[in-house]
Amino acid sequence: LPLAEQGHTPIRVLTIAGTDSGGGAGIQADSRTMAMCGVHACVAVAAVTVQNSVGVSGFHEIPPETVAAQVRCVVDDIGVAAAKTGMLASTEIIEAVADVCSEVGIGRDTAVPLVVDPVCASMHGDPLLHASALEAVRSALIPLATVVTPNLDEIRLITGIEVVDDRTARQAAEALHGLGAQWSIVKGGHLRTSESSTDLLFDGDRFLEFPSPRLATGNDHGGGDTLAAALASALAHGRSVPDALAFAKEWVTKCLEWSYDLGHGHGPVNPLW
Ligand code: PLP
Repeated sequence: LPLAEQGHTPIRVLTIAGTDSGGGAGIQADSRTMAMCGVHACVAVAAVTVQNSVGVSGFHEIPPETVAAQVRCVVDDIGVAAAKTGMLASTEIIEAVADVCSEVGIGRDTAVPLVVDPVCASMHGDPLLHASALEAVRSALIPLATVVTPNLDEIRLITGIEVVDDRTARQAAEALHGLGAQWSIVKGGHLRTSESSTDLLFDGDRFLEFPSPRLATGNDHGGGDTLAAALASALAHGRSVPDALAFAKEWVTKCLEWSYDLGHGHGPVNPLW
């Protein structure tokens, strides 16, 4: 992606997501990734997690109207070329985010593409979304998505489909597209039976495959956030969705190669290469 130029205001991207006190995932991963991708990260905090490398022990939700107000005031003054959602925690926050995005012109079929990472739980299984909010993910959030980027656990929760092979991956991509996403991505990183980590991209017509080598590391905390943030950054730079995903896959592979030990649990992927 083009580097920032001295004296020039960089492109802006907005992340609407949760924080990670351990600094590995969520808004911390998003802002680091976006900075490294040559964009200025604007941040609407939806939840504050109490988190380290071992897990998430709790979270505090930001009032929905405060989340929406952050989005509105950034768009009014600074302007953004793309946006991304991550952890949104509750039905009320999802509905407030969906409403404000529609109001300010963020989302599919607008000039500002939206990457929806439908974060449901951490890799340790700690919840980051109330189970009751899954319906709002389906009915309010995914229909706004230019691209939706669930992992296999999230696909099971959202669509009921257990992805175990290429056939079920295609079914899941169709189901996500059917919920209203312009493009759906079925990420293969968690399909440990497969030798490669292949992401499947679908636009209602064509299936495109994006293979990458499977890397053996336990330090993959924040990998999903990093992929979605790199994707949003590439879209902000004007790349098409397939080009942006190719870029984001390469980016995450590199970040996994550079991941490091941290604390007593899973270390983070490292965008600082
Ligand atoms: N914390 C926050 C705020 C997140 O948004 C995410 C992932 O989306 C996580 C934690 C979990 O990251 P991981 O599944 O890589 O542990």
